[in-house]
Amino acid sequence: MKFFPIFVETKDAHVLVTGGGETALQKLRLLSKTEATITVVAPEFDDDILSFIKDFPNINLLKRAFQTEDVQGKRLVYAAHDDETLDIPVADAARAAGVLVNVVDTPAQCDFLTPSLVERAPITVAIGTEGTAPMIARDIKALLDKNLPANLGDLARQATRIRSTLKNRIDDGRARLRVWERLMQGAFRRAVLRGDHPGAALALEAEILAELEISESEHGETPNTPKTPKGSVALIGAGPGNPEYLTLKAHRLLQEADVLVVDRLANPAILDYARRDAKRIYVGKQAGKPSTPQEEINQIIVREAIDGSRVVRLKGGDPSIFGRLQEELASCQLFGIEVEVVPGISAAQAASASIKLPLTFRGEHRSITLLTAATKDQVVADDVVEFMKTGRPFAIYMGVKIASEIVETLKQAGADLSSQVIIVENASHDHERVFSSSLQDLALTIKTLSIKGPAILFIGLSYEDMGLSADDRIKSIELSNVVSLNRKAI
Ligand code: SAH
Repeated sequence: MKFFPIFVETKDAHVLVTGGGETALQKLRLLSKTEATITVVAPEFDDDILSFIKDFPNINLLKRAFQTEDVQGKRLVYAAHDDETLDIPVADAARAAGVLVNVVDTPAQCDFLTPSLVERAPITVAIGTEGTAPMIARDIKALLDKNLPANLGDLARQATRIRSTLKNRIDDGRARLRVWERLMQGAFRRAVLRGDHPGAALALEAEILAELEISESEHGETPNTPKTPKGSVALIGAGPGNPEYLTLKAHRLLQEADVLVVDRLANPAILDYARRDAKRIYVGKQAGKPSTPQEEINQIIVREAIDGSRVVRLKGGDPSIFGRLQEELASCQLFGIEVEVVPGISAAQAASASIKLPLTFRGEHRSITLLTAATKDQVVADDVVEFMKTGRPFAIYMGVKIASEIVETLKQAGADLSSQVIIVENASHDHERVFSSSLQDLALTIKTLSIKGPAILFIGLSYEDMGLSADDRIKSIELSNVVSLNRKAI
């Protein structure tokens, strides 16, 4: 190890930066996050530096050439002229005065290096490559950024805040350690990470009481059996199928889950992101077999959480859009189980992105309706016709199988069947397909092209009206030929 990592105190410290261009500005951006007093010396300053420092009273500019005395009393010096003839004298002066110096981008001239940082203050991860391969540092930083919760710093601050409470209330050191472990892994951690401070306070109290009960029963003072800490449920939107559309939060919770409750049709590539040893319970639809009734899914989720597991219920798209979220939330709430919802990218959003067809259009479409045609009692609800008549755009979910019924209902209501429908099947997957058809020909198109879904049907959105070029895949199918060729045969 040529360079030894340390964290330098910046409170009451004085740092010198020499140089007035982009390189100096980069260092100022980093240093501005510290508590140091910073002096920047340069004969000229870029406008970017002048405007940057306005927000930082602890940064002072000296508009003149560097002088040897500038290094006096400094804790760190950055030579950032980006010009060796100016930087080397700064380095020499600093070394002569016993001050650590960094000549930016010149490791051979550096007493110290500035690492790549992953910040969750007060937690900071510093990554160094001794100047050999900044790309590797960038990869590691991306990896950590993705995996460390955004609120991790808050968890550290809360840990400091509750330290004395724990010390006062739990005498035994080993018991205190047990509580710390549970706090940092369980309901307390989860509450802090999602910013739920009242929830965190409750979880803290519950852990302390549970520990006190355990200790008392160990000493035979009360015959109480210790309570198992309750698990939790996360109802997670897994997006339309492509794992890249998982949110960072969904990704983290997948890795923390003890139990995964997933639909059989869920993309296995998404499950690769889950903890390998998590128990997997498959529910929902499977080709040719009846699907697990919703009530049974609710029961499974609740049962596993009561057993103390962190349950992740993985749902397609966004859980709040045709996802039976209400029922699963209500079940958890009924049993007092801690539950959170993580939004996902819904199929209509993924389809819109994929075919580059915006869902709203300034001045023209102020709304987009996400619609499922079927209701509990009707294959096609009457109000679908009303929607059609408004002329406003909508996206139909779960419409492929009942396309002919939808068209028939609209026909009988006298709707204009020449409107264009855009069909996006398996949006975001490798095998995604895109078609267009008139409403009149919708059922025929679906049959001819063997569209099995899942698919979104867009009605009332037009590339032409928006002045955009249509997705190439739509044009290349030359659907009108396919449909007219097959019209007689079907
Ligand atoms: N909660 C989900 C929708 C569940 S309903 C979401 O927000 O996306 C199931 C319907 O969603 C399917 O019938 C289909 O219409 C649509 N769907 C789901 N995944 C899809 C995909 N990858 N491409 C196109 N449509 C999809």
